[in-house]
Amino acid sequence: MADKFVYFFGEGKAEGTGTMKEILGGKGAGLAEMTNAGVPVPPGFTITTEVCKYYYENGGKLSPEIEQEIAEALARLEKVQGKWLGDAEDPLLISVRSGAKFSMPGMMDSILNLGMNDRSVVGIARRTANRRFAFDAYRRFIQMFGNVVLGIEKEVFEHALSALKESRKVPYDTDLTAEDWENLVGSFKGLVRKEVGTDFPQDPKIQLALARNAVFKSWMNPRAITYRRLNDIPEDLGTAVTVQAMVFGNLGETSGTGVGFTRSPATGKKELYGEFLMNAQGEDVVSGVRTPRPIADLKIVLPAVYQQLVEITQNLENHYRDVQDFEFTIQNGKLFMLQTRNGKRTGHAAVKIACDMVGEGLITKEEALLRVEPQTLDQLLHPIFDPKQREKFKVVAKGLPASPGAAAGQVVFTADEAVAWVSKGKRVLLVRMETAPDDIHGMNVAQGVLTATGGMTSHAAVVGRQMGKPAVVGCIALKFDSKEKLFTVNEKDIKEGDFVSIDGATGEVMLADVPTAPSEVLQIIAGTLEPKASEIYQNFAKLLSWAEETKKLGVRANADIPKDAKMAFAFGAQGIGLCRTEHMFFAEDRLPIVQKMILADNPKDREKALKKLLPLQREDFYGLFKEMKGYPVTIRTLDPPLHEFLPKREELLVEIAKLEAKGTKGKRAGGKRKLAKLQKLLSRVEELHEFNPMLGLRGCRLGITYPEITRMQAQAIFEAASKLAKQGGKVRPEVMIPLVGHVKELVLQKAIVDEVAEETMAKSGVKVDYSVGTMIEVPRGAITADEIAKEARFFSFGTNDLTQMTFAFSRDDAGKFIHVYVAQGILEKDPFQTLDRAGVGTLVRMGVEKGRKTRPDLKVGICGEHGGDPASIEFCHQVGLDYVSCSPYRVPIARLAAAQAVLKEKKEHRKVGD
Ligand code: PEP
Ligand code: MG
Repeated sequence: MADKFVYFFGEGKAEGTGTMKEILGGKGAGLAEMTNAGVPVPPGFTITTEVCKYYYENGGKLSPEIEQEIAEALARLEKVQGKWLGDAEDPLLISVRSGAKFSMPGMMDSILNLGMNDRSVVGIARRTANRRFAFDAYRRFIQMFGNVVLGIEKEVFEHALSALKESRKVPYDTDLTAEDWENLVGSFKGLVRKEVGTDFPQDPKIQLALARNAVFKSWMNPRAITYRRLNDIPEDLGTAVTVQAMVFGNLGETSGTGVGFTRSPATGKKELYGEFLMNAQGEDVVSGVRTPRPIADLKIVLPAVYQQLVEITQNLENHYRDVQDFEFTIQNGKLFMLQTRNGKRTGHAAVKIACDMVGEGLITKEEALLRVEPQTLDQLLHPIFDPKQREKFKVVAKGLPASPGAAAGQVVFTADEAVAWVSKGKRVLLVRMETAPDDIHGMNVAQGVLTATGGMTSHAAVVGRQMGKPAVVGCIALKFDSKEKLFTVNEKDIKEGDFVSIDGATGEVMLADVPTAPSEVLQIIAGTLEPKASEIYQNFAKLLSWAEETKKLGVRANADIPKDAKMAFAFGAQGIGLCRTEHMFFAEDRLPIVQKMILADNPKDREKALKKLLPLQREDFYGLFKEMKGYPVTIRTLDPPLHEFLPKREELLVEIAKLEAKGTKGKRAGGKRKLAKLQKLLSRVEELHEFNPMLGLRGCRLGITYPEITRMQAQAIFEAASKLAKQGGKVRPEVMIPLVGHVKELVLQKAIVDEVAEETMAKSGVKVDYSVGTMIEVPRGAITADEIAKEARFFSFGTNDLTQMTFAFSRDDAGKFIHVYVAQGILEKDPFQTLDRAGVGTLVRMGVEKGRKTRPDLKVGICGEHGGDPASIEFCHQVGLDYVSCSPYRVPIARLAAAQAVLKEKKEHRKVGD
């Protein structure tokens, strides 16, 4: 346990530093750093995350030592400010805010204006000569404290406020007088008594203790839990609590408050980005209730403050060498910084900012590579509106372009409805007056978000950008009628279920399902747009070229058809790590031939069908080899159970019953023939029926049972390879045998492949450099890897099956319970998405070690879904794999993740060396 629980900052000096995020939280660390750097920051102190952990471990109680430290820090703050909590003359007011190591915007609770009571409100009124302000501040405090600490529904207070405005016949809060606020304070106190049965606490020390505990409790509120799950933030970090002297942005026309970024978090453009409101408190800006003014206007309102803000924030960016997301308050013309932190940004912005900062000499290429979350590269591939089609649709309104991307969907008005509609397979657009942290689950499933109020830093905008969701906010043309579940734009009513499209890059809103087109990056990959036409692509390519210089892992693609292989190559894939040949069998023109092959009850008939498949497969392989331009192409022999190629038993039974019903009345010969055919099919389907197909006749067991299938596939591979080699092309086929658990399985299949290879090469007169290897996807395969490596030139870990068989979780059924396991903390993540290092990972490590012991030059890769998951890729790097293979779209993600794995390892080594 630590021996210091509270860190003070103020008078130009802080006890903590900016590097202490772990215990001070992002906010506390930022305030400490700013104080030390001479930035104007209201003084205060931070109670560490250790205290939060203590709070949870001790049933919501703190030790006397901790209480004592907090009391001392408070006394020091009072002394520094020359003001006392609860004082009747000139009272100190404080804010109590949450702040975890990783920022969780709006997810936890904060309380402002603490210290207000019946005595101090009088003092505030006198000192500020502003009675209206004093009572407004008091009612805000009761409202916030009542909700966060006492658990009273927000609506209870809001109703009272609306009723007051109605009785006074005024539309806005700003129309209410000092007397109105004073009366409302009385009503609010009455409501508290009614709701919780006790009076609103008047003792500020008790207020502080309760508020602090409420902030600790908010670490475990449902939206914070959801947010952590979505963002992979560990549960056990806890939150710090920062207590800080209040400054007020609502003291009059020379006071104000705002938030901003040093560069655009939406596009990455280098410009001060943000907004402010004069005569307002902080929550008015971010809550989206009032649409604030763009920050550039501050230049007109208070030029000197604007200039100071530009200088301070620029210095902060230079100091942190990253984009800063800051909050400020102007109290009677004096600027105070309340927060600074590294800004969250979209994938587009992340790539541009990383490249620009390298260009500006602010960060190194290595730092740039670590600045971009690999997954966010996916956003650069999201569709945009089809430029050709788009002109046909009228833009009916324009809001603020808060998070780029095209989104079209059916309108829903609540987060819960979004989830319900999406679960029925619909595409939805979440349309709200404004969003709140409670809406996060709906935003997560919606195509995009449209709000009527709020600015570029409102909740919808911030969360939209972070999720990579298109968002248009502050679209004032929308008039809401939430009771009727509709909104109106230009007098046209839009109801739930109507299609609306938004463009998060321009802020445009269209009342239609506007068709989309591939993004600029995808168009360049497909060769339909020139690279120089897209700055986004150029930065994307630049970043990936740096990744290429750094990474050690090869990145290949899982691709089955030449078109996908071509795209993978353009994304930088260095080969194909898995071609699932069964996908070629499923093609519409081939399925009847495949079925004939399966239905054959003797090898001769089977070979006849296989002969028909041969040229088709040859053509496929030729295309793949050609697209891969000499890089290795790993082709897997047939893997799934044969019944997957046949119609379902139930469907056949229905069809047969229908025909039979007809047959009793009619007697057409064609009908009879069809009936006989279906009956034969049915009996074969029943023969092939397995109770547990995943553990049945599949993988190499197929090729062992029907060697002629492997033979045909090998022939197609080597004929295609020979053809291309003869034409002067380079080819490197790797034939991969699936689901091997016993070395003898591989011996038998390999013998067939080698024999066919010899025959084919002899016939064509060209020698092709090929190898035969296996997938390691059965636990026994990993355990006996030393034996298997005697026969295999390469291993490829099939971690989909390996996960299935290690956990004994059916990969097709686990979706029903994995979320329960994750929610209950049995598993941290879905092991089918992120490799389970402790279990499956141990088998992988064992497989690599044992395999390489037998064959030091054994090539080892991975081709399960994990090959495209950054955390799993890091593990693959650590265990010394040669390559990862993933879907073509994830190739850029994998390339960046592979580079990050190297850089993180370097960092770790440096730490150990320290
Ligand atoms: C695997 O099991 O990881 C694999 C790649 O094979 P499939 O998903 O085709 O079973
Ligand atoms: Mg498999």
